[in-house]
Amino acid sequence: MSAASPIAIALDGPAASGKTVVGRMVARKLGYRFLDTGVMYRAMTWAALQAKINPKDAAKLRGLARERPVVVVFGEDRGVLVLVGGVDATPHVREAEVEQAVSLVSQVAEVRDALVAVQRRLAQEADIVMAGRDIGTVVLPDAPVKVFLTASAQERARRRHAEMQARGDGTTYEQVLAELQRRDKLDSGRKVSPMRPAPDAQVVVTDGMSEEQVASFLLALIGRKLP
Ligand code: C5P
Repeated sequence: MSAASPIAIALDGPAASGKTVVGRMVARKLGYRFLDTGVMYRAMTWAALQAKINPKDAAKLRGLARERPVVVVFGEDRGVLVLVGGVDATPHVREAEVEQAVSLVSQVAEVRDALVAVQRRLAQEADIVMAGRDIGTVVLPDAPVKVFLTASAQERARRRHAEMQARGDGTTYEQVLAELQRRDKLDSGRKVSPMRPAPDAQVVVTDGMSEEQVASFLLALIGRKLP
């Protein structure tokens, strides 16, 4: 960590583009923190579902964002924890109901404002690789390295389906593909902070590349961009 001004690497891209796995590999190699901001939107969504808020009820979601601060804790061995209003949401963020509702909750400007404020504060604290949809465009527009990682929907669905099969989840490839395409559409079509590459982002299409190859490519890119 550099004392004066920490370095941030913005890593955006659609669902299942490899941001999290590759981002974590790159962060470990550089000795930076890694933050998957999707977990923050998922944690807020879980809290909304717990509070019986309809994910389409923007007014109630605004209230929730005001009343329940989101805190991110970087742990040594337990990884990153996300607390909403003091409650640890981390064990719940991959639940199917959360996955289903998260792209609706993340459309609400006040939810985004609350989370973006936390993300910016974290980028002031320590060197970080931050993954999401709007990191290079909105959260950290001055980041010295911006990458937009993507792959065809079919390739992303194939990867996600293989992971799910390995966990014993019987969801079919077609269902996984349809769910990814649904989220892509909501995330790139929303009014506030839609998913898109920043004008100065390097777009990396990862079809046919292994995670290790993508990580090496990014490390080389970062090495060229940072002094
Ligand atoms: O990255 P992940 O798939 O876990 O993100 C879950 C959802 O959170 C996305 O589909 C998107 O709706 C939202 N999100 C966002 N902005 C971010 C990160 C995630 O809107 N920076």
